[in-house]
Amino acid sequence: MPHTLNAPVRPLLVALLSALLLSACATPGTPGGAAATAAAAAPTVAAPARAADEALRARTQAELPAYLETLKTLVGMESGSRDLEGLGKLADHVATRLRTAGMQVEIRPAKAPDFHPQLKGAVLGSMVYATRTGNGSKKVLLIAHMDTVYAKGMGAKQPFRIDGDRAYGLGIADDKQGVALILHLVDLLARSGFNDYAQLGVLINGDEEIGSPGSGAFITQLGSEYDAVLSFEGGGSAEASGSDMVRLATSSIAIAEMKVTGRASHAGAAPHLGRNALYELSHQMLKSRNFGDPAKGLQINWTVANAGGSRNVIPAEASAIADVRSLTNQDLDLMEAALRKSIEDKLIPDTKIELSFYRSRPAFVANAASLAIARHAVQVAGEVGLPLSIRDRATGGGTDAAFAGLRPRGGVLESFGLRGFGAHSNDNEYIPVSNIVPRLYLATRVVMDLGRGAVKW
Ligand SMILES: [Zn+2]
Repeated sequence: MPHTLNAPVRPLLVALLSALLLSACATPGTPGGAAATAAAAAPTVAAPARAADEALRARTQAELPAYLETLKTLVGMESGSRDLEGLGKLADHVATRLRTAGMQVEIRPAKAPDFHPQLKGAVLGSMVYATRTGNGSKKVLLIAHMDTVYAKGMGAKQPFRIDGDRAYGLGIADDKQGVALILHLVDLLARSGFNDYAQLGVLINGDEEIGSPGSGAFITQLGSEYDAVLSFEGGGSAEASGSDMVRLATSSIAIAEMKVTGRASHAGAAPHLGRNALYELSHQMLKSRNFGDPAKGLQINWTVANAGGSRNVIPAEASAIADVRSLTNQDLDLMEAALRKSIEDKLIPDTKIELSFYRSRPAFVANAASLAIARHAVQVAGEVGLPLSIRDRATGGGTDAAFAGLRPRGGVLESFGLRGFGAHSNDNEYIPVSNIVPRLYLATRVVMDLGRGAVKW
């Protein structure tokens, strides 16, 4: 997931937390009561002790060497978002693994929309979509992405290696640990003969790091079909001060593009006959630069511009791109409306302005079902002594949980993966080895409980 700024707490979610806490307190003795208390005490929560599923605990412990072997294999296959060859090989590998675990697998092609401001219809890394039907009550989907932000060839500088409690490798934290967790979780359930779910689904995409332009719509569709979606992005910082978490919020990102058409004319002999597109574009950028609201985490920054070609010609064309961030989809709508209104007021009357506002990624706004799953996760983590916090404010960039949560049938939860460090940087990227067994246990137990309908909302 891309990194962005910290953002203020969302009042709506606080209200939601409080409401659920009150309702849980009104019925003492219900299983949700203790977890709700823990969730409301976020950010750092120690869940009440509860007996662990010892058989599952032993199985997840026994899985560790194989999990590390999987990580080594995945890290060894370079898969930058635009490396279609590398992504293709990795997709084939993931598909084979999922078929071996008894799933029906399809590889679905992905393509950016033609109107994407930068990718304009480009072919992207394919998605791997796998399903398995069970005899339980709920449909559970697990998502992660196999693409990385790194250019081909960089992998040689950060190969897989283990040093003490750290497993290093390029893309290991973001998000190959998540792909590996899903592969082992699915395989573990198959080997245990667990099929107490209506359907188990897996979606691994190859375009997350560029905004999921080719997979976002499909993820939204799946979110409307599955009762629960767990996204396996990193589950916390691996630094000494870091702790395990799940997320109930991520930011939205949009790309605004403005194109101004004026009229060319000789800049020396007849400037008055020209209509300077660069002046008009500048006027619009200067007006709109203040349309954000820092208190709401809404911001617009013009970052790329082009105009003119010859020193002695009044420029007839000018264009610019802005990066827009927001914590809610409504604020993004307000930003677009403000820009559309603003371009009606021109500096140079005879110019024409076209505005495109591409929603690259929606905000992930959790509902009551998401919160119920998060509370359940806190309780399960407590079984193996894992303190798990619930983050209800966006602190990172956008993730695919947002697409899954646009028209959700049930609940969506982000950051179900391992803690990690060094994503998107030149630092050595790593995950803590000691985090693997507890997070594999947590994820597997939550999937089992969701599948058999034991998590209520
Ligand atoms: Zn990621």
